[in-house]
Amino acid sequence: MTKIKRFKNIFLVLLLIFILNSNATSGSHSRHNRIIKKAIALHKKLENNHHWSITGASNLGNEIFIREFGQGPKTVLIIGGIHGDEPASVIAVIKLAKQLEKNPGLIKNRAVLIPCLNPDGLSIGTRTNGNGIDINRNFPSSTWSSEYIKDHNNPGQEPVSEPETLTAVEAVNIYHPAMVIQMHQPFGAIYPDNNTPIEIAEKMSLITGFPISHDIGYTTPGSLGSFTAQHKNKIMCITYELGRVDREPDYDAVTGSLIEAINFP
Ligand SMILES: [Zn+2]
Repeated sequence: MTKIKRFKNIFLVLLLIFILNSNATSGSHSRHNRIIKKAIALHKKLENNHHWSITGASNLGNEIFIREFGQGPKTVLIIGGIHGDEPASVIAVIKLAKQLEKNPGLIKNRAVLIPCLNPDGLSIGTRTNGNGIDINRNFPSSTWSSEYIKDHNNPGQEPVSEPETLTAVEAVNIYHPAMVIQMHQPFGAIYPDNNTPIEIAEKMSLITGFPISHDIGYTTPGSLGSFTAQHKNKIMCITYELGRVDREPDYDAVTGSLIEAINFP
């Protein structure tokens, strides 16, 4: 083989790798967008369902919905869509609501559901809200910091500067949850905090196959989890990471695991 021919072959192989890679990226991107559209459509339907109440409004004036199920002694607050680009976290909470609507006897405690805390982010497919703030860095805890490295982690001017954060804080103050479950993507793992007995995470892991982890791998100042951890009521908090944003989890399994969690406290 001549030198020129060899270079030509190497060039063609590199070109092929580039094309395959960019196809995979755009495929992943369009799958993610499709799931976002699905979440938006399901969330929009809540407007016309009188069982859902409006508990707040976002920066851009989008409605934040809430609904209670069950009347048991303890309360579990479940929040999806804290980050707008994590659409399965919204769909999972709506699927849970549908199951509890059909089978209210499945739970022995009260469940309070907020399927999408960040409807601005969902509508535009961003992690942050309509004001460019990461709600999960805007909670009132001693760890809150005005410093940030990446734009999508902008914590806001001060704790609870954002109406979405205020909506979540108010839900905690009004409903006094024993446990908060926050739904996220993409890590595909269950993160119980220090207030949460490991047994509950083990049950959830058994149902879904998601492993248990204790370290997300980076600091999260001003997060919802840091707020609940410091709360005087010693609220349990589970961060539920549903896996890749361009994929959908097994929602039936996720629903089953959430019902286990609701019945735990
Ligand atoms: Zn998230």
